[in-house]
Amino acid sequence: HTIGAALAQAADRWGDREAVVCTAQDVRLTWAELNRRAGDFASGLLASGLRPGDRIGIWSMNRVEWIITQFAAARAGLILTTINPAYRLDELEYALKKVGCRALVLSPPFKTSDYPTLIRTLAPELDRASPAGLNARRLPDLKLVIQMESPTLAGALGFDAVEALGRDVGPDSLRAVEAVLTCHDPINIQFTSGTTGRPKGVTLSHHNILNNGYMAGAAMAITPDDRICTPVPLYHCFGMVLSVMAALSHGSAMIFPGEGFDPLATLQAAAAERCTALYGVPTMFIAELEHPRFAEFDLTRLRTGIMAGSPCPIEVMRKVIDRMHMRDITIGYGMTETSPLSFQSGGDDPLERRVSTVGRIHPHVECKIVDAEGAVLPYGRPGELCTRGYSVMIGYWNDPEQTAASIDADGWMHSGDLATFDEEGYCQIVGRLKDMIIRGGENLYPREIEEYLYRHPKIQDVQVFGVPDDRYGEQVCAWVMLIEGETMDREELLEFCRGEISHQKLPHYVRFTRDFPLTVTGKIQKFAMRDAMIAELQ
Ligand code: ATP
Ligand code: MG
Repeated sequence: HTIGAALAQAADRWGDREAVVCTAQDVRLTWAELNRRAGDFASGLLASGLRPGDRIGIWSMNRVEWIITQFAAARAGLILTTINPAYRLDELEYALKKVGCRALVLSPPFKTSDYPTLIRTLAPELDRASPAGLNARRLPDLKLVIQMESPTLAGALGFDAVEALGRDVGPDSLRAVEAVLTCHDPINIQFTSGTTGRPKGVTLSHHNILNNGYMAGAAMAITPDDRICTPVPLYHCFGMVLSVMAALSHGSAMIFPGEGFDPLATLQAAAAERCTALYGVPTMFIAELEHPRFAEFDLTRLRTGIMAGSPCPIEVMRKVIDRMHMRDITIGYGMTETSPLSFQSGGDDPLERRVSTVGRIHPHVECKIVDAEGAVLPYGRPGELCTRGYSVMIGYWNDPEQTAASIDADGWMHSGDLATFDEEGYCQIVGRLKDMIIRGGENLYPREIEEYLYRHPKIQDVQVFGVPDDRYGEQVCAWVMLIEGETMDREELLEFCRGEISHQKLPHYVRFTRDFPLTVTGKIQKFAMRDAMIAELQ
């Protein structure tokens, strides 16, 4: 199946049922309307000179045009390059150049990010005042800019205008393109979160993401009666695959509560739109649970969802099950490079396993845990998790070296994550290889220390990492976020740990803070905390 074929089928089977609801824009589309608008926009893109294989960038928060663009690009054989809304000029320039974007779809300004103005700075020729039009010198490949609202850049087209053009020219050229597309064609370049450094451009096919969305939905038993509340960003695989592709393949509706993450808007949408599923990284669920108005919202229709993207604390899982009624919530583990999910808990898994592991392997993928030499390790021993199967990316875009460093000759994707298996196949993510603390020659796993500290009733969130140390190689450092109104000092924290966790794991440095450095996906960047501590200690 290509994604276009899947969309046509969805329009056939569930045509008059809701597909997309964007609460901030106040728009609703059925599967039939979505298919029609994606078709018009796709025809308009082809009529504007784009050809299959061209890269089309999208720089936007979550909006309905995003979904239309995603499906239009897939139908026209274009490679949708999703760009992080938080990027600043040089990151944007890096991404657009790296993939040689020919077209760019831009959203209106959002909060502090004025996308059109940033683009104008990068490509001064785009300014209305300049007659030169689209001869952007810094971005020689960029030929077409489409603005979601009335164009403010010279030479840019309005989103509506491209749809109208598509209606005028009709579906013939689109049909010709669709007839030769295959499900193994690349359709998407997604950048990784940048949790450990510069984001990498991951190239994925229809086959990769459509099947992964289907499997993720199946693990939650999603049906056309489900409504998936999606506060996670669309530019990342969590939104564009686990929400959009799961909805597409199971006929459910996707609800977008606002353009960016807002805990209150998410609670409001989940209640008002009678959502049955809710997604998020752990920090999002924490923010929702701790929101002062949490108790006002009727969340009793929530049933399932996915918590993923970074370690999911057991205490948070318990609260989500008890207080948000999500008795069938699943934990997902994956990475952009594997489309993303390869493990998911849920279904019949006993509660204890569901909250403490990432479940068992998804159908149709293989996994193994290896030591530094590549030898497979026995049950219970932590090592690097590797996966193989349909979901492994085509490669990093235009980067054969990085690709070869990650996918070996036998097709195994090396995750850079440390994990263990038990004998029943449940997988526990121990942490990232890069984050493992080696103190005095001993391997310490930050995750284990964090899980212990989470149990303290005053602690809302905590992050543990290693900082360089002359004597021990590395020392344990903890950044602690207390629940609003609580106070604590280092001594109280250490007292809580003494006798409960072994002395080498006691945090040597403790900092109390109100916020952690985050990626836009809401992931905590330990490397930024580590850098801050190193600078402070010097
Ligand atoms: P970058 O590769 O740019 O440093 P990233 O690895 O965070 O960023 P993503 O592809 O978005 O980019 O995230 C995948 C990573 O997220 C995994 O490799 C893993 O470290 C982490 N992760 C995902 N799900 C879980 C989970 N359930 N538990 C623990 N870690 C998880
Ligand atoms: Mg990664």
